[in-house]
Amino acid sequence: MLNKEIPQQELNKLKMVVLDSDGVSLPRGTDILEKEGSDFYQAVIKTNKITDRLAEKLNRLKKRMKVCVSSGRGLIYLQSMYGKILGEGTILQAENGNLSLIEGRIMQHFEYKEKYFKKLATIREEIKKLPIKGFEPKQFIMSVHAEREIPEVYEIVKRNDPENELKVMWNGEAFDIQKKIVSKGEGLKRLMQELKIQKEETIAIGDRINDKELIEVAGIGISADADKLKADYWTTGEELGGEVLVEYLLKNLNL
Ligand SMILES: [Mg+2]
Repeated sequence: MLNKEIPQQELNKLKMVVLDSDGVSLPRGTDILEKEGSDFYQAVIKTNKITDRLAEKLNRLKKRMKVCVSSGRGLIYLQSMYGKILGEGTILQAENGNLSLIEGRIMQHFEYKEKYFKKLATIREEIKKLPIKGFEPKQFIMSVHAEREIPEVYEIVKRNDPENELKVMWNGEAFDIQKKIVSKGEGLKRLMQELKIQKEETIAIGDRINDKELIEVAGIGISADADKLKADYWTTGEELGGEVLVEYLLKNLNL
């Protein structure tokens, strides 16, 4: 259920629904970690996939609007997690808005120079020495998984970033280290420009702090966890927030 009804005239305008991934469209519990020594590289990946039930609902909803999944994860994993809904009308946004897969085409939403990647590599070497669980394979941002928030991570990033272009976000499971300008919201804004979709034509749902800009950029913003992310609308109950919202849209748009 939603905490309150969305006015019908607002629902009728919608052309795109944007869903966060972990905790919204599928259960948490993803572990994607890489480890390396001087002579080996190892990656261990365990992730949930979208359920058949939600995939069926989203495929039905696609007759009426585009479906975009926005996640901090790398694109390659999103393609596996959301394989059941790929194709016309589906967009996967990866790495907190950095990349979009739009019907087979990949768009990069932010510019990078080589210096940026060198900086991340230096930071990585220093963070490697801390008691972390590992890094998550990504192209543009660096995600460091850890049991707890480690203050040294902030210090290392600050020391290696004289240009002051980076930010660090701790989400309870991992640090995301990335350019300040990058966010799921800014990525969505750039995607909307590309698709010529207006603010009032989008609805977005998220559950954590990295979804804050996402639900602000969308015309209608929904929180799937009212304690951790504030919004005008929020979902209630035990069901996944994404499931609740998609069900609501199908019902109220007679699909
Ligand atoms: Mg989430």
